[in-house]
Amino acid sequence: TQQNIRRLVLGNWKMHGELAANAQLLSAIRSGWNQSSNAAACDVGVCVPFPYLSQAESALHGSDIAWGAQDISRFDKGAYTGEVSGTMLADFGCRYVLVGHSERRSMHAESSDVVADKAKAALAAGLTPVVCIGESLEERESGRFLDVIHAQLAPVLALGSEAVSRMVLAYEPVWAIGTGKTASPEQAQEVHAAIRAALVAVKCPGVRILYGGSVKAANAATLFAQADIDGGLIGGAALVADEFLRIAEAG
Ligand code: PGA
Repeated sequence: TQQNIRRLVLGNWKMHGELAANAQLLSAIRSGWNQSSNAAACDVGVCVPFPYLSQAESALHGSDIAWGAQDISRFDKGAYTGEVSGTMLADFGCRYVLVGHSERRSMHAESSDVVADKAKAALAAGLTPVVCIGESLEERESGRFLDVIHAQLAPVLALGSEAVSRMVLAYEPVWAIGTGKTASPEQAQEVHAAIRAALVAVKCPGVRILYGGSVKAANAATLFAQADIDGGLIGGAALVADEFLRIAEAG
């Protein structure tokens, strides 16, 4: 991390959870983080499934832990059955919303243009979009992964400096997500440095760039020590309070 950038550790629960287990997880994270001395240096949040936003709001209200959603509609209201708008997310006190997670890009055919529209919708609702980008295994092995990253970034950066300055970016190599196969700190830093250069070019050097993909307590500190890694987007390890807290402690 650069000296002046505040860290962020964000949990992505994906499609996991049920009321009773969530209550335990949220309360364990809340009390654990309340006792942490690192709360002054690092922001923490959890992105939960839509039906549990209200539960997250009541469980975390007044704490140092923010909450958010995992997707957002690019529209604000209307005949969009099944969609959830940024205004609705703001109604439940969300601070963050993931946009363009690789699971949505691949399973719901979200293009980078749609992802940029969603980031814009999030900003319009006063939310912080966490824009996810990352290459597939095939793209990594082709050696052209930086081209892929730049192509994914282009429509987002085209929203302009004022918009970009209010975002968070997350680099998540698809081959590292849920596989237990983390990018090495050097592999991650190489891409983060390229993303930083792209941010500097649009005069947004202070935008946080999170790394995601099999982050756990055992590898978090080494990843977060890289010059351009400003925190993490945590999937599986965010479902275990102790593990998630130890990662936040490294943030
Ligand atoms: P993982 O997921 O930590 O389980 O690899 C990260 C993500 O998809 O955000």
